[in-house]
Order: sequence, then C-alpha cells, then structure tokens
Amino acid sequence: PSRSRVTVVGSGNWGSVAAKLIASNTLKLESFHDEVRMWVFEEVLPCGQKLSEVINQTNENVKYLPGIKLGNNVIAVPDLENAVRDANMLVFVTPHQFMEGICKRLVGKICQNAQAISLIKGMEVKKEGPCMISTLIQEQLGINCCVLMGANIANEIAVEKFSEATVGYRDNKEIAEKWVQLFNTNYFMVSAVQDVEGVELCGTLKNVVAIAAGFVDGLEMGNNTKAAIMRIGLREMKAFSKLLFSSVKDSTFFESCGVADLITTCLGGRNRKCADAFARNGGKRSFDELEAEMLQGQKLQGVSTAKEVYEVLSHRGWLELFPLFTTVHEICSGRLPPSAIVEYSEHAPKLS
Ligand code: NAD
Ligand code: 13P
Repeated sequence: PSRSRVTVVGSGNWGSVAAKLIASNTLKLESFHDEVRMWVFEEVLPCGQKLSEVINQTNENVKYLPGIKLGNNVIAVPDLENAVRDANMLVFVTPHQFMEGICKRLVGKICQNAQAISLIKGMEVKKEGPCMISTLIQEQLGINCCVLMGANIANEIAVEKFSEATVGYRDNKEIAEKWVQLFNTNYFMVSAVQDVEGVELCGTLKNVVAIAAGFVDGLEMGNNTKAAIMRIGLREMKAFSKLLFSSVKDSTFFESCGVADLITTCLGGRNRKCADAFARNGGKRSFDELEAEMLQGQKLQGVSTAKEVYEVLSHRGWLELFPLFTTVHEICSGRLPPSAIVEYSEHAPKLS
C-alpha cells in the first residue's frame, strides 16, 4: 500500500508540538511519508517577516513555541488548500472558534479517502443543539474523525517530559491504531478507547473546571477548596457527558483524557492562569484583555466553552443540575463576583 501523507491543520502552541511528535515518527515508520506539512495562519512578525517563512528558515515556531526545533521534515504552508493537497491523514489542532470557518474553506479540497483526528478542545452550539468539533469535521467534510485528548500541557511535551494521551474512536479500531502509531513515542504514551464523545467531552469540559480552579487560586482559598472544585467539576463533566450521549463510558473518565487532564489543567494551564488574574482583579478586567496581555496570541477555550455549556443547560432546563458550570459562566460574564464560585455549593443538588 502507498505511504500516508500527514498534514497538521494549525500551528499554535499545541499544534506545533503535535507536528514535532508526528514528524519524529514519520521519519521512523515506513507506512508514512517523511514530510509533514503544517498549515500556518499567516501573520507578520514585529521583525517584518512572515511567520511561515521564519518557521521554514529556523525550523522553530518562534511565536507560539520558541526555542524548540520542530524537525527538518516539518514544512510550514500558509495556503490552506496547498497544505491539505494529497494528504490522507489530517490532524486538526486550532482553537475551536476557528474550525467552522476552516471547514467551510476545506469543502471539496481534501482527498476523498482522508482520515481525520481532532486535538481541539471545545464545541459549537447551534439551533439544533451542541455539536462537538469532531462531528463538525465529520459532517462538513464527509470524513471519519477520531479525537486525541489527554493531560498534555504543550510546553512540557515540547521538552519531551513523559505524559499520556487518549485516542477516542467510533468503530474503526484499525484507524485508531494507525493514529496511535503516528503519535506514540517513548515520552508520549497513547492508548485508544472506543468512546469518541466521552473523550472529546472530557477534553472540552475540563477547561470550564480549570476556570473555576483559577478563581479559587486568585482568591487564595487553598488546596482543599481547589480539590473540592475539581471533584465537583469531574462529577458535572460526567453527568453532562452522559446526558448528552448515553453511550459515554464511566471508564473514560479514568483515562488520561479524564481525571489526568483535569488535574494538569487545574494546576498548570492557561485557563487557570487567566482566571487567577481575573479573580485577583475582582472581575474588573475582562478575559479578552487578560488573554491578550498574558498569552501573546495563544487562545483560551474555557471562557467560551462555559458560555456554550450554559446555552445548552438553559435551553434544556438543566441549569440547576450543574451549579459549577453555571456559576463559572455567570462569573465570566460579570453577573456574579469571583467569590460566588464557592457560595453556589450551598444550593447544589446531589448529582448521582
Ligand atoms: P493557541 O492557543 O496557541 O492559539 C493560537 C493559534 O491560533 C495560532 O496558530 C494562531 O495563528 C491561530 N489563529 C489566530 N487567529 C486565527 C484565525 N482567525 N483563524 C485560524 N487560526 C487563527 O493554539 P493551541 O495551543 O495549538 O490550541 C489548539 C487546540 O488544542 C485548542 O483547542 C486547545 O484547547 C487544545 N490544546 C492545547 C494544549 C496546550 O497546552 N496548548 C494542550 C492540549 C490541547
Ligand atoms: P490550557 O488551554 O488551559 O492551557 O489547557 C491545556 C490542556 O488542554 C492540557 O491538556
């Protein structure tokens, strides 16, 4: 059989690390072409040069992952259509808010036999209800889409510190194993589970809990409170996932994509960091402002996910079942002060 060609759609902080991981494997594995194309949303750097050109000259994403060599077989491509041409394995890894537009631009441009995987944590809410990003890709592009989520702070994986990740697949185990092969390294241990919705919802919802954990840090409430927030958050993640998809498995929450990602993001993620600053400023500086100032172009997913989850909850009459998720959105949108993050629990109903 002919060799598979891989394109990474996205080149932010995690996108660049994903390209590095994949590129180290395509060099070793016979079944893949060595070259990995990486689509770059073009921008002009302060030095006046284009980001894609600098990546190709230096082999580093100087803006989103400075100091890390990506591998000489990673080629930055600023034109989306050229980036995906002839690729039969597409890795999607952009902030979730850009995926609808990207999918529209890709219709009719990708290989018929392409397989996709989404590393994107987030969802869209439409009139018909919530739509996970892998479903958006699958429906808009007419291709099968797996997911990869896990306790994966990109900067730690970039310097090859050990971590684990979970591939979620629908029914094709062979394809899932090919993705595992493409990502797995001695410092990045990947396993596959047949629960695409469960894996993707874990990755998506933990960002809302991480915002709550950041509030607690900003209010200097200590470790017990933070652990309580994580426990309540995990319970809401599980209940919400199961209400949306009855197929979601309990065991998924014990994989890297579940409890492990929740812990690492609540300890060291960008959502936690910005929510900490938000609470320290008493909610007087907006998340947009803090994101721009603290993340230098990287994007938060938790604030918009909290809003999206809130829309689903209010539409379905479930707000009272999910006091933590609800309160996070009410704080982010300025309706409640950051201190409300612990007050709500007095009214919390018992979720089974
Ligand atoms: P990022 O937060 O670094 O975002 C910046 C990227 O967005 C840049 O590549 C930028 O060019 C691009 N961008 C900006 N405006 C755009 C536009 N209008 N259209 C398209 N692209 C645009 O990105 P990331 O860290 O690679 O995150 C991507 C996804 O991976 C997110 O869903 C995130 O939750 C998830 N994730 C991130 C990490 C991490 O540690 N960074 C870990 C696991 C998962
Ligand atoms: P943040 O976006 O909060 O940094 O979380 C990164 C992540 O998803 C780690 O797995």
